[in-house]
Amino acid sequence: MAEFFRKKKKICQMCANKDINYKDVAIISKYITEKGKIMNRRMTGACAKHQRHIAQQVKWARFMALIPYVK
Ligand SMILES: [Zn+2]
Repeated sequence: MAEFFRKKKKICQMCANKDINYKDVAIISKYITEKGKIMNRRMTGACAKHQRHIAQQVKWARFMALIPYVK
């Protein structure tokens, strides 16, 4: 575990764990800023594939009115 931190390589949360779903508001809200914007890759630590996935899920969550467009 110590080695993991020394390498400073961030593991994509979704590669490490499970996929996120737009219905999981608690998880989705971790990937948006206070202003309701989708966080960039540097902030989320997600891989390119899953960053796109996040964006898509956030859009869906907004569409379903689970999260606000602007807080
Ligand atoms: Zn990933």
